[in-house]
Amino acid sequence: MRILFLSSEVAPFSKTGGLGDVSGALPWALSERGHHVRVMTPLYRGVPRATLQLVGSPLTLEFPFGRVDLRLFRAPAAGELLFVDAPGLFDRDEYYGYPDDARRFAAFSMAALAFTQADGFVPDVVQGNDWPTGLAMLALRTGFAHTPLGRARRVFTIHNLAYQGLFPASEMEALGLPWDLFTPSGVEFYQQLSFMKAGLVFADLLTTVSPTYAKEIQTPAFGVGLDGLLRHRAGALHGILNGVDVKEWNPATDVFLPRQFTSTELAGRALCRKELIASCRIDAPVPGMPLFGVIGRMAGQKGADLLQVALPKLLEQGASAIVLGAGEPAVQDAWLSLAAKYPRRLCVRVGFDNSLAHRISAGSDFFVMPSRFEPCGLSQMYSLLYGAIPVVHGVGGLRDTVFDLTQPNGNGIVFEQPTPESLFGALVRAVELFRDQAAYGVVQRRGMAADFSWAAAAAEYERLFA
Ligand code: ADP
Repeated sequence: MRILFLSSEVAPFSKTGGLGDVSGALPWALSERGHHVRVMTPLYRGVPRATLQLVGSPLTLEFPFGRVDLRLFRAPAAGELLFVDAPGLFDRDEYYGYPDDARRFAAFSMAALAFTQADGFVPDVVQGNDWPTGLAMLALRTGFAHTPLGRARRVFTIHNLAYQGLFPASEMEALGLPWDLFTPSGVEFYQQLSFMKAGLVFADLLTTVSPTYAKEIQTPAFGVGLDGLLRHRAGALHGILNGVDVKEWNPATDVFLPRQFTSTELAGRALCRKELIASCRIDAPVPGMPLFGVIGRMAGQKGADLLQVALPKLLEQGASAIVLGAGEPAVQDAWLSLAAKYPRRLCVRVGFDNSLAHRISAGSDFFVMPSRFEPCGLSQMYSLLYGAIPVVHGVGGLRDTVFDLTQPNGNGIVFEQPTPESLFGALVRAVELFRDQAAYGVVQRRGMAADFSWAAAAAEYERLFA
């Protein structure tokens, strides 16, 4: 199959979270299975340009909001990865969060399709990912409907339903979208323009990143106002668990670690733990107490507020913890003031640090992920493979990857309520497990033996596309 894959993040070139990881791995897993996959993504400021090659001719798109001049670049030796360059729109420090985001990602979606049409690549499948590519699904059914591209099947993948790309209705006009689409069965979401809805309504097939999340988003509790539409489209909606890029996330070969290790040779792991504690300038936990690791965007979704209530009692008993994340200032500030209260026990690093993320997975005794909702979650899979036993809230992809140690296949600790009390109970169970090192080792090795390679997920996408 010829597959056109559109994404606003592609690791390692751009990444704020799981979307970047998936877009940096799934397309190449599909090409390894013999498909011709083309990935297109915006050329942001942070992408190194020295080795990029200009391809094709420049293109100009005329929108009612103005004219956008575009060029296309190719990254060498990285599969067919193409960057859409529109300096006025993408040459900025951040990927999202600007007042003209509607125009930026409308232009990206339209440009990707227009460049593809111009160079004669005729995809069988166009896969859009999250709201930034929603308008591509719509455009394939409208402006491109009677072109070769219009014959492609449209697949729209939900990585996180909570980010919907909502914009004022006036953007309909600025983008040149016909007003007859501005209805609840089209792209209107309570008087606003929803890019997410454009994807959900106009795609042939919807996928999301875990089986449990696929069910949850059809309920009011997790549907963020779109559960009715998703129930309506239930027959087209499939949950496929993300894989892990084992070229990057493998403790036996990980270049970020001071020492590599495997499930049968754990001496290197002990060294990783020691170095992690030293580099974070905290005290090692007192004997019998564990080191907790936390990595993730600092947003309400990730449940940091629960942990900020549940953790201090354990720090007072001599546990230690390392927290890495960036995001909402209120969450950051709450973590930083907690760290100021427990300077020897709690290390908080605000920022994006891939090396530290690897070292936390390799050096912590437990990895805590109390997400209120979690489409898939990759960090808990990394922690399983790296021998940091996950402590998670039983939702979404966490439910599909972490099984409580009371189960025969137990590889972690699962708590059921998104409350500080429920999380605290889970942390206490973690301490109990830690005190029984033989039992701890059994659970740890089960996690490390997991197979999260992309091959299985890619085969599943392939089946749906076919
Ligand atoms: P989400 O997509 O909701 O952010 P995931 O768990 O699916 O959550 O993916 C998060 C990815 O981003 C993981 O690869 C994780 O290691 C990485 N990550 C998140 N925050 C940071 C950070 N501050 N520094 C380094 N890596 C981070």
